[in-house]
Amino acid sequence: MVTGSTIRAMLTGKSTGKGKGSDANDLAETAVLLLLRSPRFAVGEILELLDMDEREFREIAKRNRRIHELLEERRLGQLKPLDKEPRQCLQCREWFVPYGADRFCSDECKKADQLGLDKR
Ligand SMILES: [Zn+2]
Repeated sequence: MVTGSTIRAMLTGKSTGKGKGSDANDLAETAVLLLLRSPRFAVGEILELLDMDEREFREIAKRNRRIHELLEERRLGQLKPLDKEPRQCLQCREWFVPYGADRFCSDECKKADQLGLDKR
């Protein structure tokens, strides 16, 4: 079964070997990718959701080929509807593609929530 982190790896072309990426840029890029794949979100909405300004977004788009392609697909209206809409983890606020009714991106986050730890 494809998990959120596997999808992240597919999207970013990075291995999941090191666990959750802690680089803020990385997270933003992953979130942008996930949200851009969903026809439900307009680019403006995505920027708002991620609290990102346009300049930052353009830099990421320049750097990341997949984001570039997604923008192109959007412009041409070729974006395919997703089986699963991306969702924001209730614990770490990271965007992920849920499996079933998952509200957390990982078991770690689910556990942390059950333990009642403070949200980061
Ligand atoms: Zn999480």
